Amino acid sequence: MSRIPFSFGDTHARRLGDQEAIAYFSMEIGLAADIPTYAGGLGVLAGDTVRAAADMGMPMIAVTLLYRNGYFQQHLDAEGNQTQTPVRWSPEQILQPVPWQASVQIEGREVQVRAWRYPIEGVFGHHVNVLFLDSDLPENDPWDRALTNDLYGGDRRYRLCQEALLGLGGVELLHALGLDGHLIYHMNEGHSALLALGLLERAVGAAPPDQITDEDIGAVRRRCVFTTHTPVPAGHDKFDWNLVTRVLGARRAQTLRAIGCCQDSTLNMTYLALRFSCHVNGVALRHGEISADMFPEYPVDSITNGADLAMWASDAFAELFDRHIPVWRQDNQYLRYALGIPLEEVQQAHASAKQALLDEVGRRSGQQLDPSVFTLGFARRATEYKRADLLFADIERLKRIAREAGPLQILYAGKAHPRDEGGKQMIRRVFAAARELRGHVPVVYLEDYDIDLAGYLVSGVDVWLNTPLKPHEASGTSGMKAAFNGVPSLSVLDGWWLEGHIEGITGWAIGDRDETSEPSGERADLYDKLEGTIMPLYYDQPLEFARVRRYCIAFNGSFFNTQRMVSQYWKSVYHRVITSGDRGERAGDSTPAADA
Ligand SMILES: *Cc1c(COP(=O)(O)O)cnc(C)c1O
Repeated sequence: MSRIPFSFGDTHARRLGDQEAIAYFSMEIGLAADIPTYAGGLGVLAGDTVRAAADMGMPMIAVTLLYRNGYFQQHLDAEGNQTQTPVRWSPEQILQPVPWQASVQIEGREVQVRAWRYPIEGVFGHHVNVLFLDSDLPENDPWDRALTNDLYGGDRRYRLCQEALLGLGGVELLHALGLDGHLIYHMNEGHSALLALGLLERAVGAAPPDQITDEDIGAVRRRCVFTTHTPVPAGHDKFDWNLVTRVLGARRAQTLRAIGCCQDSTLNMTYLALRFSCHVNGVALRHGEISADMFPEYPVDSITNGADLAMWASDAFAELFDRHIPVWRQDNQYLRYALGIPLEEVQQAHASAKQALLDEVGRRSGQQLDPSVFTLGFARRATEYKRADLLFADIERLKRIAREAGPLQILYAGKAHPRDEGGKQMIRRVFAAARELRGHVPVVYLEDYDIDLAGYLVSGVDVWLNTPLKPHEASGTSGMKAAFNGVPSLSVLDGWWLEGHIEGITGWAIGDRDETSEPSGERADLYDKLEGTIMPLYYDQPLEFARVRRYCIAFNGSFFNTQRMVSQYWKSVYHRVITSGDRGERAGDSTPAADA
């Protein structure tokens, strides 16, 4: 059987030999706006990871689900009430069919699964394929055909069936492709943890659950690694035991119970992933610590997230980097030398990105904003902990700031999950604030936040605002994308910003590092800094503002990119797993080096 080719043209690939590759599993992957199979940061991170892996010649294959309905089109009425419709897209026109099929048992039925692939070409011509699993086949029954329709839709049963399709179906399909003997399985969050069960089944065949040995588990464990993204216990994916038995079948349920994956009559996907992984990491230093406290039985490392520099640099900055730092695409670290770019050129590039954003705002909303006015941007998934409305706690204060420190305009975007009532209400509160501010501070909420709109926003605003409730932001990545474009963050000290923040140099902190501090202190700090520091810098010392922009690029752009992140995964995870596997040792019996 012929294989999906990995190309082995460069250093990493040669060191891995043509034997080993990484199978990167993610419930969502964000590759492009016309492939709407992602909901937010987790998916965009996965897409950026795959792109960096392609740049670096990493032999990798990514596995996700197809989602024919896409992650919805958002409609907002004049009050900010959100409604949703499916996004029309044509997988058949964008993706290439893979001529293999596999089957996986779900609810006692043999569900057929096929795949579509999307090759990503790296900067040196290396390809990484993304496989989109698809169960919409005429031989499947209607429930099973619909399993690859909706991302994060449906009930618990639907979700567990999807996770079975991703984990178990993914393992079966990779086996059908003839790749499975040489793979290291990377679970990007716990949704794909059933892949470990799939590997165990393949290894033990028909052995009864009570005869599964520690060695059997160890053999799976040596091949699996896990990145956790969830800083609060409530966020972990859990399934009721009756449902587990119904969907996976009595035998698999017994196996999971026998190997200790049942707690309080639930299957916790994070615990399943932890049990079967020889390396576990969080997505920023603080998040790694929080995860280690949450799972004291397991060593948890951290590798701070990044974003794909070439993907997120606006045209204006890409041209600027091409002129001054020609190797920036091949090796993102060279962005450090942005320190030598004349400030006037940084100013010009930003002005051009800002104009492109305001033109797009005009096209989408009909509102003409003024490019000379200080512009704040906030765009995120609309969910409560992100606190999109923190900025509007004191409307009169904002009016006064606009009157006294200079004009201010604000751009918003973000979708609420269709069932997230709190998130939907938050959007309405932003709309209500916008009404109150009319005539004083223009506030525009743009519909349909996606990769395209994010590209305009992170590069075109003057300051990127981030106000999560600590410590809920595991990492956050949009502020990194902003930094690539010389846009400083004004952010609560949470997630990546604890590492990227240098006060007055790469941006500004809201509040302190104390995770128990009162929101009132953060609100006061937010207004004080806008009024007393940031807007005066913008209006009175534009060249000094451009210096902050340049520091963002040099300090944060050179580090918070996925090339750096993937090379850390290589050094502290993949390479260690491969080499300890060769020696027959159990990787992960000791904590991996604190490389991050
Ligand atoms: C980058 C990105 C995100 C994640 O941003 P956060 O800072 O983690 O909230 C979400 N959605 C889209 C479309 C993005 O591009």
